[in-house]
Amino acid sequence: MVPEAASAAGRVDQAVLRETEVTALTPTTPEQALAELSAGNRRFVTGVPRHPNQDAEHRAAVADGQHPFAVIVGCADSRLAAEIIFDRGLGDLFVVRTAGHTVGPEVLGSVEYAVTVLGTPLVVVLGHDSCGAVQAAREVVATGTPPAGHLGALVDAVVPSLARAARQGVEDLDDIVDIHIARTVEAMLARSAVLAERVAAGRCGVVGMSYRLSAGEVRTVAEVKAGVTLPVPAAPAGPPPTAVAG
Ligand SMILES: [Zn+2]
Repeated sequence: MVPEAASAAGRVDQAVLRETEVTALTPTTPEQALAELSAGNRRFVTGVPRHPNQDAEHRAAVADGQHPFAVIVGCADSRLAAEIIFDRGLGDLFVVRTAGHTVGPEVLGSVEYAVTVLGTPLVVVLGHDSCGAVQAAREVVATGTPPAGHLGALVDAVVPSLARAARQGVEDLDDIVDIHIARTVEAMLARSAVLAERVAAGRCGVVGMSYRLSAGEVRTVAEVKAGVTLPVPAAPAGPPPTAVAG
């Protein structure tokens, strides 16, 4: 390498390192949380991960309480491990994962716990290219063959995204995944009054991201900023009354 090129490369490396530093303080706003996730993903993509908050000292420090700065509602795909792709550690991310990031009551309850009890300022729906759950739902619709066991619940959750894609003339699987990510963001806000109110109050933001398996990059495909007022859904019905013996 000629000296000029070497010094140019050196400058680039320094710039990347400055841009991707780990913030010492836990983010408290959606913007700070998003910036921290972006910086961590950039460290991961460029091959300079810092693996923050993974040491014994930090493990002991967070044993008494957690303050995760982002909820990740991600696909359960084995290549989508949130702490790895965002280069974070213990206590940083509150991760809920299902195949195809389908959102049922348990997922919504987990998200609501994080944003209210833990005060987490950002919720991320994380999908990815070549998603097997979206592909499986597409095959079920195309062939008319009902899925076995509980797979039907996954397919049912993806089918409305396929219908939207069809209405828009979208056929590419990865473009359909983007639609499914955006629709998952909408579905969470439409079904969770707690989350919608938290967003309207400016306390929380919701972002949809798509991850590329090969490159390791995330990109934003949908965003609902803190302070946006949405139609607040009705609260879910409570549990049935418990029978009292005697
Ligand atoms: Zn997937």
